Amino acid sequence: MTSFHTHRARVHDAALPPYRRHSALRTCLTRFAPYGLRATYHHLTVSARMPRFLEADPESLVRAVDELHEARELWRARAEEYAARRRVQKRAGRRRAPETAWWHQRWWGSPNAAWEHDPFLHPPLRLPDYVRRQHALLDGVELPGCPACGEQGPPVGIPTGHGRAELCRGCARVLTPCGCERWHSFEPSLRVGWSRTWRREHMTGTGEPSPHWPGVRGTARVERLESYTVDLESGVVRRDRDQ
Ligand SMILES: [Zn+2]
Ligand SMILES: [Zn+2]
Repeated sequence: MTSFHTHRARVHDAALPPYRRHSALRTCLTRFAPYGLRATYHHLTVSARMPRFLEADPESLVRAVDELHEARELWRARAEEYAARRRVQKRAGRRRAPETAWWHQRWWGSPNAAWEHDPFLHPPLRLPDYVRRQHALLDGVELPGCPACGEQGPPVGIPTGHGRAELCRGCARVLTPCGCERWHSFEPSLRVGWSRTWRREHMTGTGEPSPHWPGVRGTARVERLESYTVDLESGVVRRDRDQ
């Protein structure tokens, strides 16, 4: 897909106003975002030290898009290899993939779905390191800790009304599901507005995380997640605590 490269070139183009370069970064994120669009954007604001006002450091956009590009190149090489292997397997009569590649996993029902609901929750890894970790797991390498981020500390238990699930204290991935066979979605009780995140209200003028907003970060944020059950027939989402 050429459009990623076209928009990456725009991010690099110092002749463009920062807001145009910023919007080109967003387009790149619609093409590739390992943590989901919002959480990947949040990750890049912190890792590339994108200040609240881009004029203070427009080159932070280049750092952000280049980290994304580096991860995407790793993924592209691997996805091509995977697709070639699948073609051989299909010719040999194996219609179903022996394992689902991480990039084919949908958010719906995924153990990582909390990242979609709260952009502040995602692994702390640089994107290329996250992609390398996922590729190693796909190869069957046994890695200690949370599959997503490698965290080895005690998980955070979240009640589901009739049981509990255990989530990674680092990134909120579900490590041990509730066990009732239904899928629970873990979502923040206090939602952060995406527009505030997009405008980097969580960053200071010099590109450091703001001490003021949002007040709750890290494991304390995971601890405040609440469990919801989605009725697949009616589409009704219910907070498990209310049942
Ligand atoms: Zn984790
Ligand atoms: Zn349950």
